[in-house]
Amino acid sequence: MRLELKDIKGGVLEQGYSCSLADFPELLAIAQQDGPQYKEPLEFYLRFQRTGSLVEVDGRVDAVVRLRCGRCLQIFESSISETFALTFTPQSQETEEEDLELEVEQLGLITYQDETLELREPLQEQLLLAIPISPVCDSKCLGLCPHCGVNLNECQCSCVRKPFNNKFSVLADIALKKD
Ligand SMILES: [Zn+2]
Ligand SMILES: [Zn+2]
Repeated sequence: MRLELKDIKGGVLEQGYSCSLADFPELLAIAQQDGPQYKEPLEFYLRFQRTGSLVEVDGRVDAVVRLRCGRCLQIFESSISETFALTFTPQSQETEEEDLELEVEQLGLITYQDETLELREPLQEQLLLAIPISPVCDSKCLGLCPHCGVNLNECQCSCVRKPFNNKFSVLADIALKKD
């Protein structure tokens, strides 16, 4: 999960990476806590371009993530295909350049040391960003009945229309009183 600058011959390098979940500790932890789980392998395609000491990376990731639907609570799989751009800049050795370091962070630049790009953190971040915040298995998902909890995609229940029809709800109240 690292690249040495000397491997970018002629200024440009295109490289594919096939990663496992174990390569990304944060994603592994989320999956183990019953959160979204990426399926292996995670396929990255990266194009590195050197411009002086800067290295620009155009990347693409293709993966499948297992998510829990926010409406019906079922697990479903979603394909993820994202493109992203990263810029690496050498870390300054001078302590008095702390202000510059801060600026570097604010610009969204990633620092590198010893002529080596560490890819694990920035790639993990891309995968974290790609996880949908409110996943829904299908835009037509009917969710769970708020009264009896059945999955309305799989079956109908008798209580579905109750809140929308006053006449029936009155009848249902009478029926309850009889008991
Ligand atoms: Zn659903
Ligand atoms: Zn119901």
